[in-house]
Amino acid sequence: MSLDHFVFPSGLLGTNTALLWCTRTREGVLVDPAGEPEEILDIALQYGVAIRGIALTHAHFDHAAAVPQLKELTQADLYIHPLDLPLWEGMEGQCNHFGLPAFQLPEPDLMLEEGGTLEVGKEKLSILHLPGHSPGSCGFLSCEANLLLCGDVAFARGVGRTDLWGGSDEALQASLLRLRSLPDTIEIVPGHGPSFRASMIGTRVRATEDY
Ligand SMILES: [Zn+2]
Ligand SMILES: [Zn+2]
Repeated sequence: MSLDHFVFPSGLLGTNTALLWCTRTREGVLVDPAGEPEEILDIALQYGVAIRGIALTHAHFDHAAAVPQLKELTQADLYIHPLDLPLWEGMEGQCNHFGLPAFQLPEPDLMLEEGGTLEVGKEKLSILHLPGHSPGSCGFLSCEANLLLCGDVAFARGVGRTDLWGGSDEALQASLLRLRSLPDTIEIVPGHGPSFRASMIGTRVRATEDY
């Protein structure tokens, strides 16, 4: 197993950004770079990682604000689920809604799909389509590394909100059931805040988070 990772907060809402890399090739993929692109590049440099891909768990502004600069600086491929393309193309509306300056978006290069793989050097993570918080929300799972990046589907203290564009309570419940079935050895890293385990889902009050 040669997959390594480092998770750190970035952007206005302290989004969990992940740098995943293959220790054999030193090639890496960034998940949800949300701000401070220079600092993110410094982190990759510290680990000796060349960024080859940028993958979004979903296309909300608070997971993507550093994508334009990072894509330009690294020429990495951008991965997104096709059901979140309307959100991606409507980024200006999202930014207006939250009173934030809009940013110019690059075209995605590759589409994420259920059952597909996210390649990180010689390593692979499974792509889980986990709709509900947004139509194209995805998780990236490595059973070998005991790691799941789940975006805003669930959090340590609650579940993702479903009142934003294309959100669905019914779809979210089905996605939460999928997460609940994962082995408890897996560290689930949400879009914001601390990690948790599958057994914690449904054992708490089903509070909806602000994300
Ligand atoms: Zn979100
Ligand atoms: Zn978020």
